[in-house]
Amino acid sequence: MQQKRPSSTSSCDVTGAGPVTLQLRNNLRKNKPREQLSHRGRPVISKGDEGTPTCGLSGTHSFTKPQPRFGLLFDIDGVLVRGRMPIPAAKKTFEKLVNSQGQFVVPVVFVTNAGNCLRQTKADQLSHILGVPINQEQVVMSHSPLRMLKKFHDKCVLVSGQGPVLDIAKNVGFKNVISIDMLRESYPLLDMVDHNRRPKLPTNSVINLPKVEAVVLFGEPIRWETNLQLIIDVLLTHGNPSGIHQSQVTPHLPLLACNMDLMWMAEANSPRFGHGTFLVCLENIFKKITGRELKYEALMGKPSELTYHFAEFLIRSQALEREWKLPITTLYAIGDNLMTDIYGANLYNRYLEERVARKNPKAVAKMAAVTGSAATVPGEEESDSLWESELALPSATSCKSVLVCTGVYNHSADVPSDPHRCIKETVFHGHRDFRFEPALVEPDYIVQDVAEAVDLIFEHEKFVPQ
Ligand SMILES: [Mg+2]
Repeated sequence: MQQKRPSSTSSCDVTGAGPVTLQLRNNLRKNKPREQLSHRGRPVISKGDEGTPTCGLSGTHSFTKPQPRFGLLFDIDGVLVRGRMPIPAAKKTFEKLVNSQGQFVVPVVFVTNAGNCLRQTKADQLSHILGVPINQEQVVMSHSPLRMLKKFHDKCVLVSGQGPVLDIAKNVGFKNVISIDMLRESYPLLDMVDHNRRPKLPTNSVINLPKVEAVVLFGEPIRWETNLQLIIDVLLTHGNPSGIHQSQVTPHLPLLACNMDLMWMAEANSPRFGHGTFLVCLENIFKKITGRELKYEALMGKPSELTYHFAEFLIRSQALEREWKLPITTLYAIGDNLMTDIYGANLYNRYLEERVARKNPKAVAKMAAVTGSAATVPGEEESDSLWESELALPSATSCKSVLVCTGVYNHSADVPSDPHRCIKETVFHGHRDFRFEPALVEPDYIVQDVAEAVDLIFEHEKFVPQ
């Protein structure tokens, strides 16, 4: 029996597990070829697919070894592991992805929104779970793109989160870092919510800290009231919390945030607060006090484009290191979450398509005809200099989204019992700065698990590892 695609209605949230109902378009997007599932659940190329798929072998031999022209981006939770347990298909899949010397036969990057440990720690965990050697240059944590934002590295930054945040900040390039605890000790009169943490005796501030010049939010902290208070103090005093709040100071200090996930799935039956919930609190407190919107200099972690730029850079670097001469033109992003993995991959694909279009006036005209818009795509000079000054431009021209059913995406729950019922979007759990767009949560492919995903990609790319 042919399986239904979630092309009309889907329930999902940032974790994919909440009661969010999103209306997806009934019709597939006309300007993007889509894949459908065969009766075995294996995707088949739909009619109208454009051109010939990029081939991993055709004309790509160097001596006798095949050179891939594609790279793989793996989400971790729900794709390779559930909690601490590996998903059965994962280990088998990775045996296929490495050769007898333990080298990957295609460029592989692991992209996770986790952020409470160093890349090396995550690489070690993955090596242990998957049974293949993985190094930290293959791991993108939610904070990893910070290493591209070099213009902030010499500034004095206040960091918020839990775990080894000072080590993580230094590891990504920051040289002058202050923690919330350091700030609290220097300014003991600021943290007053918990009566037990108030100073017992009259006290003065001991100012031995430099002025804060930027704020970096790594992840959800432990004592939310303390972090919310001190971050607001720093923003409203322009980095000098001994001063008086100046709510009309504009613009406020640069604010960089990693991981926008509103909630996440742990062992409990319902999702738990994630860093996105903390950001909602901070944004709303700031707005309530000042009447203005809190602005982010950068937002990182899926579905942010910045994270995919960094992942693409790592894929390109691996190909260079292996002396694969042919450019990596196609990325496949494999994930279990519509709102992060699929949305992010499709958003990045849109960026790549627009880059191609900018270089090709005919394609711009074609895109305008398809979308019915006379507006042109942004010029190269409008691109985000935050990262482009640090990375060479991408070689990839497309990013395909592959949804697996081993994690938070629930195929049966996401297909409406009554397909004629029109359910409007009721709640959007994505970040404030990311609009919900039904087209962005449509996967290019849906497969059962990571093994099927890799088989499909190899087949599509006509790639035979040796
Ligand atoms: Mg996941």
